[in-house]
Amino acid sequence: MAKVLCVLYDDPVGGMPKKYARDDIPAITRYHDGQTAPTPEAIDFTPGQLLGSVSGELGLRRFLESQGHTLVVTSDKDGPNSVFERELHDAEVVISQPFWPAYLTAERIAKAPKLKLALTAGIGSDHVDLQAAIERGITVAEVTYCNSISVAEHVVMMILSQVRNYLPSHEWVKQGGWNIADCVERAYDLEGMHVGTVAAGRIGAAVLRRLKAFDVKLHYTDRHRLPADVERELGATWHPDVESMVKVCDVVTINCPLHPETEHLFDEKMIAKMKRGAYIINTARGKICDRDAIVRALESGQLAGYAGDVWFPQPAPRDHPWRTMPHQGMTPHTSGTTLSAQTRYAAGTREILECWFEKRPIRDEYLIVDGGQLAGVGAHSYSAGNATKGSEEASRFKAA
Ligand code: NDP
Repeated sequence: MAKVLCVLYDDPVGGMPKKYARDDIPAITRYHDGQTAPTPEAIDFTPGQLLGSVSGELGLRRFLESQGHTLVVTSDKDGPNSVFERELHDAEVVISQPFWPAYLTAERIAKAPKLKLALTAGIGSDHVDLQAAIERGITVAEVTYCNSISVAEHVVMMILSQVRNYLPSHEWVKQGGWNIADCVERAYDLEGMHVGTVAAGRIGAAVLRRLKAFDVKLHYTDRHRLPADVERELGATWHPDVESMVKVCDVVTINCPLHPETEHLFDEKMIAKMKRGAYIINTARGKICDRDAIVRALESGQLAGYAGDVWFPQPAPRDHPWRTMPHQGMTPHTSGTTLSAQTRYAAGTREILECWFEKRPIRDEYLIVDGGQLAGVGAHSYSAGNATKGSEEASRFKAA
């Protein structure tokens, strides 16, 4: 029987909700490319309820315990004395969400001799040292597509909120003001602007599809070009590299995974190639941008705005400069963990666990690493290596 160690974010400060804002959520059964949404044999939760925090337990306890497995759920994930490190030594499965990642560094993997499956309840497994997982033969899987549309919607919201200067204008209202000129001195229309995405995978392509209606000029760069009919449908221009795309864009949205090829892709040099006054929207991973280069570009005016929900490490230390830099619309990592998204990734986690314990193959589209190599979606979208370096700093949040 297996021990499953699951790291989830903390419950709401006021306790688990007794009532929800809405009574139901739409049932999504298929995604845009025809892939089916998760198909577990059963679920033990009510769709639309809070599952991603500790008491929600991703709805897994009854299922796992009925089969004789042990489930340990904690939010205490950082530092050598954390519950996570104390429980890791005999865990067979680790479940973690990118929003509150349990960093599985090579050192931690070495302390977990029984670990066989690192399961991401969400998308993006950069919190796992993939190189170490490859070398140890650990399977890494994620719930591909489960929250791609959640993020795409968020990207559109953040583009509009930055370009139109929404957040500062809202602040004036809360302060009792009516300062129209202050609100609009940085407000523009999106119409006619050039908007480009770094990567046109599930999120990037969905962003392009949603933005088409805004009469903007669309651009993308990706290692694999979209089919010609899709490029035509979207009216999107492909660029062979990031540099050539950012030169012409007013807004750049980042939608690629974090792996050694993309780490610090947006550094001082890349940002200097952008148009003055461009916006960056990054809902992919914080470490794709150089933290201090972003701050400097906002201060100098090279960037007009930066918004996103991803940081490095997570949780971000209380003195992380992105909390206080000018012209930003940062939130904690939330875009992929709406109640709607939680329903899908909790079901996907259950599906993967059912396959794992019944020794059935996990869907190819969920695999990142398997059999000692990048596999499935991972072989397409990631490069081998490690992007977890520096994650120890996450323990500074708790210490503060
Ligand atoms: P996909 O796998 O569908 O898309 C990823 C795309 O990135 C692929 O098209 C891939 O190209 C491309 N890519 C990889 N490396 C590069 C590179 N060096 N240059 C250009 N393109 C590259 O994943 P999703 O779209 O669903 O998700 C993307 C990322 O978004 C996740 O990995 C995760 O980090 C982040 N995310 C954030 C969430 C949030 O809550 N903020 C939630 C979900 C995801 P190809 O395959 O053609 O080689």
